[in-house]
Amino acid sequence: MSADPKPSSSSEPTPFNRPMPPGPAHPRSAAQRHVPNRDSLTTVNEDGSRYFLHPADVHGWFTRWRRHSGLALIAIYLLLPWIPVGGHPAVFLDVGAGRFHFLGYTLAAQDVWLLFFGVTGLGFALFFITALLGRVWCGWACPQTVFLEHIYRRIERMIDGDAPTRRQRDDAPLTGSLLLRRVVKHALYIAVSLIITHLFLAYFVSIPEVWHMVSAAPAEHWAAFVFVFMATGILYFNFAWFREQLCIVICPYGRLQSALTDDHTLNIGYDAVRGEPRGKVGTPDAGACIGCNRCVQVCPTGIDIRHGLQLECIGCAACIDACDDIMVKVDRPKGLIRYDSHAGFAGGRRQWVRPRTIVYLVLLVIGITVAGFAFTSVKPANFMVMRMSGAAYFVGPDVVRNQFMVRLLNKHNDSAVFHVSLVGLPAGVTQNGFNVPVTVEPQAEQVTPLVLLVNRRHYTGPFKFTLLVQDAERTFTLSREVEFLGPDARLLKEEDLAKGITR
Ligand code: SF4
Ligand code: SF4
Repeated sequence: MSADPKPSSSSEPTPFNRPMPPGPAHPRSAAQRHVPNRDSLTTVNEDGSRYFLHPADVHGWFTRWRRHSGLALIAIYLLLPWIPVGGHPAVFLDVGAGRFHFLGYTLAAQDVWLLFFGVTGLGFALFFITALLGRVWCGWACPQTVFLEHIYRRIERMIDGDAPTRRQRDDAPLTGSLLLRRVVKHALYIAVSLIITHLFLAYFVSIPEVWHMVSAAPAEHWAAFVFVFMATGILYFNFAWFREQLCIVICPYGRLQSALTDDHTLNIGYDAVRGEPRGKVGTPDAGACIGCNRCVQVCPTGIDIRHGLQLECIGCAACIDACDDIMVKVDRPKGLIRYDSHAGFAGGRRQWVRPRTIVYLVLLVIGITVAGFAFTSVKPANFMVMRMSGAAYFVGPDVVRNQFMVRLLNKHNDSAVFHVSLVGLPAGVTQNGFNVPVTVEPQAEQVTPLVLLVNRRHYTGPFKFTLLVQDAERTFTLSREVEFLGPDARLLKEEDLAKGITR
């Protein structure tokens, strides 16, 4: 691969190397009074084509800890389907059996409505965290950022070199070795996308089942095959090419920022009071910013944080590390770019407790309380009563009969014994079906026929009764009201009289 072009210069062109007209002062903060604005996307060229970014490598405290947390999150994602808890993968949305297993806790399909509380709780948590810490989710935990920064860009760096080299190779004429590099790089992208997709599928069908599907012909599991094919294609497109565009033009969370944050939210920003006017080291009356553009070169969305908080900023903190590195080199205090609020950059005090954070916290606490109550009130069994198909009731010479099917579901990971009893039956009613306790296998269901007979002599018309289900230890009780249907009792009596029958 020695024929590849090598970088001839360390200077890195960016969209911001072009001269920029001064913009209006930032309306929200005095701290950004001197900062010009740009009204165009930094990843779009003048002619509307894509400006493909190659963010420069950066080192520092935030980069190191983002790497640690990112790799930990990837490990969790990869390992969860392999770790058994209570006989099932730690997180397993078993679509085939209609069960959701989460760290040993099992929800049946009938309990899935409870996930509503989990989802809204997560939403309120995100609101609260965003109001406090801005886009910390985007920069530190979002799968888009985590996979892109810690897997795909690593592959790119490993195959194509650092940012200037990558940029030069992008523009170079295609040679044999360049073609080989591209083939290897994209093959690795596809391989990683396949792994991520197959593991995602394992969250729904389990690892052994994924292995079984992979071993079989695609036609035997065409739905899974199409899913893996499409999902891999989407991941490959996203991480090989689309990248930061997803955050900038698709992700709705980025657009919510202006609604969720305020002047006291902790964000990454540039201290314009300290940094402006910019000037090289030794320039009289210059601020701390030496105009090196290093913060722009490392930015994965290509923006200049010195223009103030922007929708494109994903809060990755790369510009903090980059600028701190420069500040150390020029022997100035770190923190020209740092985590702070608008109020803090303007010289004021940041407030953690404010109406917005209180409201979000209250909603979060309410959500957690309701979710906790709902989840703890879920019973380890469930049952349904269905009338058998055919006529609603049968009238015989001596009895009126109703027939039901009782579907009993055991959510335990062990087999369980259930006592089923009928309460509120009028005199003269006999039942056939639950004369002995019912044993149901773990995570299984059993359907038992229930036949109720009422002697015509005792029949007084339709009535309601209650079906109770209890476990052997009587730790819980489930109940359902059921209606016994039949004709009007007077009609039966008239029929008997017509036949000369007295009961
Ligand atoms: S890295 Fe720091 S010193 Fe360099 S341009 Fe950015 S803000 Fe100014
Ligand atoms: S401005 Fe800074 S924190 Fe925001 S995306 Fe760019 S490098 Fe990351």
